Formats: sequence, structure tokens, C-alpha cells
Amino acid sequence: MQNQPLPKQIDARKLCATTANIRAQASVSTLPRFAAGLASDRGEVTVDIRLYREEQGFYRIDGKAVASVDVFCQRCLQLMPVEIVAEFALAIVWTEEQAKALPKSLDPVILGEELLELDELLQDELIISTPFVNYHDKRECAADAPVDYPAPEGAGSEEKGESPFSVLGSLKPRD
Ligand SMILES: [Zn+2]
Repeated sequence: MQNQPLPKQIDARKLCATTANIRAQASVSTLPRFAAGLASDRGEVTVDIRLYREEQGFYRIDGKAVASVDVFCQRCLQLMPVEIVAEFALAIVWTEEQAKALPKSLDPVILGEELLELDELLQDELIISTPFVNYHDKRECAADAPVDYPAPEGAGSEEKGESPFSVLGSLKPRD
């Protein structure tokens, strides 16, 4: 089944009352707040959510968003691909008081009469699921190359003795 484009706004309570499933796809480039924390705006997000009313009467939005994106490796500062998975169990409430009264297993979505901004909600979920620091697997990390070895003596140079530039180099303050 082909995924539909991600609907930006939905009538969430109405969809919960009738029960709905949304399978959708969005480019990371259309989710700017999420993309801002990544190394590039390449990639896709696949969303699979279910809206329903459960026995206790809660209006629920349950689901999962999976994003294949680029982040920076904090060791070598190069791009690395990662998969970010955000899973959520949400209940729509009208007020802060109702939000506080929810069972701990549910996170609140405070919503009045307006439509739910689904793309904003998903960006919130993806952002909290994005790890702060990422590292390549050791074997794949460019920082594992032996960059700190001293240059081999006399390599590539026919001159013996000190290069005049090395004197300049030592006088010039480094910044
Ligand atoms: Zn790395």
C-alpha cells in the first residue's frame, strides 16, 4: 500500500470517535524544526498512527514515526546515517488539569476546538527521540585514522636541515 502524504492538520477528536488509521510519509525537509537538529534535511519519515476512543473514554493517538536521517558523529564530525524511532501513546485533553490527571502511561495533547497540527506533534515526538550525541561504529569512524602521528622524518624532502619556514612558523602565534 502506498503511503499518503502526511496530513498537516486533522480533526483529531472526530477521527478518534470513528476510529482511524493514518499511514503517511513526509520528507524531512518539510519538517523544519526536526531538521534543524540534524546534519542535513535529507531523509524520509514514515508515520503510522491510530486514533480511537478507548473504554475509559480517552481520545487516544497511538503510533510510531520512523525517520531515516543524517546526524553528525561527535568524534569525527562527519555525517552518519541513523534511524530515529519515536513511539507514543497520547491522550487528547482540553485543559492542563485534565493533562495532570492522566495515567502516567499517557502523554497529554492539549487541544481546544481547533484542528490538531499533526506535523507539529510528530516533530515534537521525533525531536525528543533524537539522541543528543551520536558516534560512528569504531571501525567506520574517520577519527579512528591515526591522524596524530608525527610526519615521518625527511619524507618527501631532499633538503637536510631546517626549513626556513619552520622558523617563521614558530614565531607566528597560532590561533
Ligand atoms: Zn565518526
